[in-house]
Amino acid sequence: MLVQSDFFTQADGEPVGVENAAGSSPVLLVCEHASRRLPQRYGDLGLSQEALASHIAWDPGALAVAQLMSQSLDATLVYQRFSRLIYDCNRPPESPAAMRDVSEIFRIPGNENLSAAERSRRTSALYLPFHGRIREEIAERRERGGETVVVTLHSFTPVYFGQERAVEIGILHDRDSRLADLMLRQAEGTGRFRVERNEPYGPADGVTHTLEVHALPAGLLNVMIEVRNDLIQDETGQRVAADFLTGLLRDGLEAFQR
Ligand SMILES: [Zn+2]
Repeated sequence: MLVQSDFFTQADGEPVGVENAAGSSPVLLVCEHASRRLPQRYGDLGLSQEALASHIAWDPGALAVAQLMSQSLDATLVYQRFSRLIYDCNRPPESPAAMRDVSEIFRIPGNENLSAAERSRRTSALYLPFHGRIREEIAERRERGGETVVVTLHSFTPVYFGQERAVEIGILHDRDSRLADLMLRQAEGTGRFRVERNEPYGPADGVTHTLEVHALPAGLLNVMIEVRNDLIQDETGQRVAADFLTGLLRDGLEAFQR
């Protein structure tokens, strides 16, 4: 992949991360908010260390859970290697949320009054390669006669604008709820986590962009998963969540085949 040399330094490396590229599962795991790393040339965007470590920069724990699921399912994982503060890869370039100057209670000085040229620079450096990689992966499978099931993995903050959230795991979908329905039904039987449909966000919040681009037009099975981040702060929590979600996904896909 061509890395934009005026955007990333040598130390930054590639914009997109891929694990288990030869995975045999039809599941393609996607993690848009995997990292809180900023490209070196952007410094700290004028943010405090607290803000840079918080959920506005990334989805804490999401990549670790996705990696465990990638292993247990033998599924390819595509993830973003840079913070959503620079570009939120789950938003289209025209969305104000793609490069926010305010996120929850934080102002982001380095994103204020961005020029059209800067917006397009970030789009080319981060958004296009990320979605290009997903597109290639799906196309390669299709050429080999293989299906793809698109599964995006996120985490959310337990307290948002001062409000505590009781939901622990959200199973989200846009207009195609086939896989989500089956996973929600499986979850009911376990009673292990508080699992809800389209919570704490839903399609009206614009969070299903990746599904809309890659899965819906092609009719691919798809789902978006949100895990409350206090549950996946350490390895034990990450493993418990990953095992639970792997089970839901496996059982959901099996139920679909029947
Ligand atoms: Zn997210």
